[in-house]
Amino acid sequence: MSALTLELRAADCRRCDLCATRQRVVFASGALTAPLALVGEAPGATEDAGGEPFIGRSGRLLFALLADTTGLSRDDCYVTNVVKCRPPSNRTPRRKEIDSCAAWLDEQLAAMDAQVLVALGNVAVRRLLDVRAPLGQVRGSSYRAHGLTIVPTFHPAAALRGGPSVTAMLRSDLSLAGSLLATAR
Ligand code: URA
Repeated sequence: MSALTLELRAADCRRCDLCATRQRVVFASGALTAPLALVGEAPGATEDAGGEPFIGRSGRLLFALLADTTGLSRDDCYVTNVVKCRPPSNRTPRRKEIDSCAAWLDEQLAAMDAQVLVALGNVAVRRLLDVRAPLGQVRGSSYRAHGLTIVPTFHPAAALRGGPSVTAMLRSDLSLAGSLLATAR
């Protein structure tokens, strides 16, 4: 299935109540053939208005760190979120919303060619790795799941809030993803 077909099918999704408050479904950016996948939590206000994941403040930090540590750009990545519609006031997505959206993410995981996937923040890490341990304990390593090598790390919004120490861990995990990708190629 092409990225466009998948996105078109999702464009009118009404599987949960977020369809009543979103401006649009923010499905993904980049090609399913990209070598690296990035998965976040849910679109924020900027993404809901612009239609692409991670185009706001946290996205700017994420792609600056990615370029710095790996030399990769947004164009080298397939970028998406666990939940495709903005939760009101940017609250954390609810279990029901995550479960309703799960089939879309599963289709994306099955269709993507990425060898390495970076899971950004608790919502993505729990959905992709099914772990309950604090993120601080699981990050810094890679795991095999869904036929991919998964690197769990902090969400860039947590780095914006948490300052240099969280940013340093995000940077180090992105660098790990870059090294894993280089050896996988
Ligand atoms: N936060 C996310 O988790 N995803 C986005 O696309 C933007 C902000």
